[in-house]
Amino acid sequence: MHLSEVAWPDVRDLDTDLAVLPVGSTEQHGPHAPLGTDRLTAEAVAAAGVAAYREATGVDVPVAPAIPVGIAAEHRAFDGTLWVSPDTFRSYVRETVASLAHHGFDRVVLVNGHGGNTDALRELTGEISRFDASYAVAFTWFDAVDSDLPMGHGGARETAVLRHIRPDLVDEDRAETASEGASDNWGEWVAGVNLAHDSDAFTDNGVVGDPTEGTAADGERLVDDAAAALCELLAAVAGRDR
Ligand SMILES: [Zn+2]
Repeated sequence: MHLSEVAWPDVRDLDTDLAVLPVGSTEQHGPHAPLGTDRLTAEAVAAAGVAAYREATGVDVPVAPAIPVGIAAEHRAFDGTLWVSPDTFRSYVRETVASLAHHGFDRVVLVNGHGGNTDALRELTGEISRFDASYAVAFTWFDAVDSDLPMGHGGARETAVLRHIRPDLVDEDRAETASEGASDNWGEWVAGVNLAHDSDAFTDNGVVGDPTEGTAADGERLVDDAAAALCELLAAVAGRDR
């Protein structure tokens, strides 16, 4: 159940203390893919995960509207990228989780689509679980799946998922040049240190990896695998002794 699409009595009648909060970003994903990629993929995995959980348990878990802007200053050289400070991000997510707890949803899984949010979410869910009324964990979908498709950035894995969930937003005419101008690796590594704080230092067009790889069928498999992992996580969070 998506909170934006139901009325309050429908929420009151839910019989669960679980909730899912997708967390995205609005940032460049190369010349071929939408700025909203990380939100769109997080929302798709969240929806598929709660559908799988409903099928397995009969329990309907509410999905909150996605957080659309995250920690993405590293992409600011590319037009349209938006970001907030880590402090603002953590506060906004924390208070959103607290408002879910106010309605009895005090076991919250954050479904994240952006690598730049990961460290802050790990730290934040620890804080929430220790000091607030909720127990929270963060699930980053691309870390939860085994795939031959490399992650990259706007590369094979994300583009495959987009080809499955929103093919209308992938500019296939630009995929070839996106691939040609891409970098092979994230960062500029010396002695185990990434010298580059910003993505434009190592990729001219914003892409890492090869967006010509990764079919819609690959994307469907990735979403299914991520949904299965999220379903397993929801069951564990629901049954966990606090
Ligand atoms: Zn992304």
